[in-house]
Amino acid sequence: MNIKVLKYLIYRIKQSVKCAKCNKKLSDKDLFVTEADSQQAVIECVCSKCEAKFKIDAKLHKFRPQNNLNSPPVNDQEINQMKEFLNKFNGDFKSIFKK
Ligand SMILES: [Zn+2]
Repeated sequence: MNIKVLKYLIYRIKQSVKCAKCNKKLSDKDLFVTEADSQQAVIECVCSKCEAKFKIDAKLHKFRPQNNLNSPPVNDQEINQMKEFLNKFNGDFKSIFKK
C-alpha cells in the first residue's frame, strides 16, 4: 500500500470514525496500523479516553485518494469557456495588449 493511500485512509478515519463506546473523535495517537499490504490495511483503534478497542478493516478499493483535496474540480462550463476563448483567439497577442 502506498503511503499516500495510507495517509488518506487515516485522514478519513479521523474525520468519520468515532469511538463506539464514548463517541470521542479519534486522533493520531489512538490509531495503530497492525497490518498493511497492497490490498488492505487493518487499523487498530484504542480510544485514549475510555480505552475501548476496535479494528477497522479497510479494503483499498474503497479509499481512492483525490489528487488534491483542496482544489475544487474544474467544471464543464470552465472548460467550454476556455475552448471558446481559444477558438476566438487568433494568436495575435499584440491586439490583446493594445486594448
Ligand atoms: Zn472511547
